[in-house]
Amino acid sequence: MSNDRYHIIITGENGRGRTLVLRKKLAHRLLSGTILCSLLLLAAGTLGIRTLGDYRTLRGQYATMADQLEQQAARLAETEAALASVRAEKARLVASYEEQVADLREEQSRLEGSISRLDERSRIIQTVMDHIGVKVKVEEDPGHSGGPFIEEKRDYGDSLISSTERYLELLQKIPLGKPINTGISSGFGSRTDPINHKRAFHAGVDFKGNTGDRVHATGDAVVKQVGYNKGLGRYVILSHGNGYESVFAHLQKQLVKRGDRVSRGQVIGLLGNTGRSTGSHLHYELRYQGRAINPMKYMQVAGLSLTVRQ
Ligand SMILES: [Zn+2]
Repeated sequence: MSNDRYHIIITGENGRGRTLVLRKKLAHRLLSGTILCSLLLLAAGTLGIRTLGDYRTLRGQYATMADQLEQQAARLAETEAALASVRAEKARLVASYEEQVADLREEQSRLEGSISRLDERSRIIQTVMDHIGVKVKVEEDPGHSGGPFIEEKRDYGDSLISSTERYLELLQKIPLGKPINTGISSGFGSRTDPINHKRAFHAGVDFKGNTGDRVHATGDAVVKQVGYNKGLGRYVILSHGNGYESVFAHLQKQLVKRGDRVSRGQVIGLLGNTGRSTGSHLHYELRYQGRAINPMKYMQVAGLSLTVRQ
């Protein structure tokens, strides 16, 4: 009998027994297998406990990270809101800047317009002044003196316009052009008197015409005198201001009364043959600071354009 087996005898109370024969090799294998299994179970148990610990740690870390993520998201939202506000501010600034630029452009074009209108007015004034050789003094806005002081806010162009406007107002008052559109029968100055045929000084200009022809004011004025005398017959004297007066004589009829305001071109009377006159005609006289002046230069201005181009 070989010695490579174990005999395991199991007996019962009734005396009967059973014998298990186990080869030693197999028994050893079973034993080592059992030990290995036990060791493996132990290791797995330990690993399981450790894994559970790790899982808890990870879960904690995950919660922390989730919190951090939430905070980051909140910050991101804040940053985006701030960015949107910055963008809105930028858009507002751009709009405001564009508005300012548009205002400046408008101001510039207005100024250019003013300057061009000024040039036009200067040209008219220059033309008239050159033609009649009149020196006029522009008064410092006499119609608006006194009252509360208001700071000058208009730009340079406007103030120039304003001063040329005053020149033009002045020109509107100066007697320019003819009182009637007919030929001249007798000029200003020394002549042979038509009644006594002696040399005499003629203080005005005589216009041909028929009784009843309309006679016009040659500039804006106030009627200074409406009257009759043997020399002038029925006459009208207009005061134009700035030292100028115009006289219309030998009228058939006067159509204005003392103190009336008349404008250039307005009919002030009808041509006639009253006073010291040899036939129907108009005696037209200009006076500057009380002295008769030659109206010829003033009448020639009527041929020039005095209209302001728009
Ligand atoms: Zn005369």
